[in-house]
Amino acid sequence: MKWNSIETFFLDLDGTLLDLAFDNFFWHEHLPYVYANSKDIEFKKAKEDFEKMYKNKENSIQWYSLSYWSKVLEIDLCSELLKVKKKIRTLNNSEKFLQILKEHKVSIYLLTNCPRYMLHVKLNQVKFWKFFDEIISSEDFGYPKETDEFWNLLQKKFKYKKTSTVFIDDSKSVLDFSIKSGLNNVFLVSNPDSNKEKQKTDGYKSIDSLVDFSKLII
Ligand SMILES: [Mg+2]
Repeated sequence: MKWNSIETFFLDLDGTLLDLAFDNFFWHEHLPYVYANSKDIEFKKAKEDFEKMYKNKENSIQWYSLSYWSKVLEIDLCSELLKVKKKIRTLNNSEKFLQILKEHKVSIYLLTNCPRYMLHVKLNQVKFWKFFDEIISSEDFGYPKETDEFWNLLQKKFKYKKTSTVFIDDSKSVLDFSIKSGLNNVFLVSNPDSNKEKQKTDGYKSIDSLVDFSKLII
């Protein structure tokens, strides 16, 4: 790949630029803990209940929604998020990578399923606002990235050139939908959560280090 053949980078947030360890902690540890306290039940039982409810909404826009889960759990998720925001961390030298992209004057679009409020808190925490030409939360479209609707709406709104766009994400399902929409240069992040083993990359072109990846572009 050559820099002069790339116009746009589409980048995912959680598990690509930021450590997915935070989201796994927030959704699978912190919230069940708060839920257990609020309902006066054991943590184990709260976690089981929560995981079941959560699983039922997988791949839907509600799965990512703070307002949806605030209502269902009767917990103010926005205030819970602020209590633990210090745990939000960058991943894979992502700041350096974003600087390299900026130096090469490619457009950087953040494409995330993270809802706007949470996105705001995260970008404030890591101070990444300055890097993006566009910030797209799937909450704005009403469809998550793992749907055809998301990619159709994105293409309609931004009219990007598919052949000169690179997309990096840690979700195979999201990459599948992007490929279906016509993108070719798509890459899977192999190590989205610093607390976990690498994920299986199957047949996907994969990335261990964003900075090393940028060195492969000439
Ligand atoms: Mg992700």
